[in-house]
Amino acid sequence: TSFEEASFPDYVLAEIKKAGYEKPTAIQAQGWPMALKGRDMIGLAETGSGKTASFLLPAIVHINAQPYLQRGDGPIVLVLAPTRELAQQIEQESRKFGYSSRIQSTCVYGGASKGPQIGKLRRGVEICIATPGRLLDLLNMGATNLRRVTYLVLDEADRMLDMGFEPQIKTILSQIRPDRQTLLWSATWPKEVASIASEYLTNPYKVQI
Ligand code: AMP
Repeated sequence: TSFEEASFPDYVLAEIKKAGYEKPTAIQAQGWPMALKGRDMIGLAETGSGKTASFLLPAIVHINAQPYLQRGDGPIVLVLAPTRELAQQIEQESRKFGYSSRIQSTCVYGGASKGPQIGKLRRGVEICIATPGRLLDLLNMGATNLRRVTYLVLDEADRMLDMGFEPQIKTILSQIRPDRQTLLWSATWPKEVASIASEYLTNPYKVQI
């Protein structure tokens, strides 16, 4: 399978080329066409599978497909991740891939001061990558809102639930419009993850290695 088969626009193909990727990973080959069609998705995959690009490149296409893109409001793409380290890694990739289309991303997580995170959110971002507890704090303070979110990623869902983030996740999801596209990634499939998936995803397409 080649990158062209995923039907990415040329500017994304250029980003992929710049990143030096030679061919899609298995997860990408299966997932990209579905994500680009707007389908909800479940990905059973671990770090190293190329899962970050699986959800980020379609996210960038999604953002660029929005009419009247206005800066200065809440994110269009929200990625929830269990830890600061993972959130930062995802943000690095989203900066890299979003660079040519001038997509702004930011990352918010606990254990760091809120001021700079609030400042970045207020200036307006298209992609926000967040740990659930800190995002909820910031939402409660009115630092941002989720009214524009139409593409939601739950990354490492099993780990987020293990860490006890279920109540925060549910509160956050209740603030996002139900007709969004949702992509859930998990390395394992315990019943807690299955139950979140059945509650929050619509007719998901499942990819796994
Ligand atoms: P991830 O599973 O998302 O943590 O990605 C693991 C690593 O593989 C990251 O450094 C990515 O930049 C890289 N990667 C993702 N997709 C590809 C690809 N198609 N070809 C080569 N490397 C890739």
